Amino acid sequence: MDEWGPEKVIAVSDTKTGMKGVLVIDNTSRGVGKGGTRMQPTVDVEEIARLARVMTWKWAVVDLFHGGAKAGVQADPESPHKEEILRSFVRKLSGEVPAEYVFGLDMGLTEDDAAIINDELGDRGASVGTPHALGGVPYDQLGVTGFGVAEAADEAAALQHLRGARVAIQGFGAVGHAAAARLDELGYQVVAISTAAGAIADPTGLDVPALLSRRHEVGDHLVDDFPDLRIEPGEELYVDAEIVVPAALQDVIDGRGASALRAQLVVEGANLPTSPQAQEILRERGVSVVPDFVANAGGVVSAAFAMEARYSPFRPETDAIFATVSEKLRANTAQILQEARSRSVTTHQAARALAQERVGEAMRLRGRSLPR
Ligand code: NAD
Repeated sequence: MDEWGPEKVIAVSDTKTGMKGVLVIDNTSRGVGKGGTRMQPTVDVEEIARLARVMTWKWAVVDLFHGGAKAGVQADPESPHKEEILRSFVRKLSGEVPAEYVFGLDMGLTEDDAAIINDELGDRGASVGTPHALGGVPYDQLGVTGFGVAEAADEAAALQHLRGARVAIQGFGAVGHAAAARLDELGYQVVAISTAAGAIADPTGLDVPALLSRRHEVGDHLVDDFPDLRIEPGEELYVDAEIVVPAALQDVIDGRGASALRAQLVVEGANLPTSPQAQEILRERGVSVVPDFVANAGGVVSAAFAMEARYSPFRPETDAIFATVSEKLRANTAQILQEARSRSVTTHQAARALAQERVGEAMRLRGRSLPR
């Protein structure tokens, strides 16, 4: 809790289904609270509050008018009682949804769950992330976040004369595979990729279309097809490549990793892949970093389109989503890299400062007291 928020924290439970959950509305000075809904056995109030704060900054950095919020249900998404628990959770929040908060997808919730939420509240606009058949925007399937990561990478690469350079990508899931596809299309040479099943590298370049089609068939096990190209898991970040895209886990580059990295550009597809110490070391070494909430903001741009489409009888136009993601992420990447350089701060610090300036201005205009 600080001067930015949260504005509202609601913990709910129900002994009949065993449901326990929380909604945190962090800051709505720029618009209605919007952020995904997480279901995991370990969810707690602090985790959801931190994620709600990240959403406040993400919306402000992409300059879209929604506020930061997040919801979490402490339950196993594999539970046979998932639907009952979810219905109980959203029923308890019917006073806040959709006026102050709109549900969405995060870990543990699928498009089918979003459809259940809307059914329970009798409101087509209670949740975004619903299936295409219900007029929703299936943004993971479309690969919008990964596309945006590649667009941000291309913009940053152009500033460093690295267009068409070698790229290593950690993670080949929703974000990683779509980033690889777009980078390949833009003429980059993908020299390493990894999944939870292992990592592969080829200094002469991997065949990205072949990897994409194998992923479609066998998922993470696509790496098993290339026994001769196997490298140690984690090494994909340190191969000889000008650009590195961590797109799997958080906390993968610490201070030591930052000193060992060979790349000249890091584009954060995953959330929180670098520690603050790593960010500082990379800055001192002259390695550019496109921060997570700039590079992976394709997800929030898609969510903004999904918010628009909630009550529309027309299917959302996906071309417009890709065009907006490209335009916004390229502009933000250039602005943040430039500001960080001119103020001698890390790109994360520059991005956070920009977000705080925008949220602070909105609070001032609404007559709310300003954080000191
Ligand atoms: P995902 O589950 O679709 O894919 C994760 C990928 O990482 C898989 O290929 C998995 O095999 C791989 N992986 C897991 N452990 C690994 C390891 N130890 N080494 C190498 N690879 C490993 O998840 P996603 O949606 O692609 O999300 C990836 C990251 O991007 C997360 O940090 C997520 O928070 C962030 N993100 C995702 C979106 C989105 O729209 N999906 C938006 C913003 C941020």
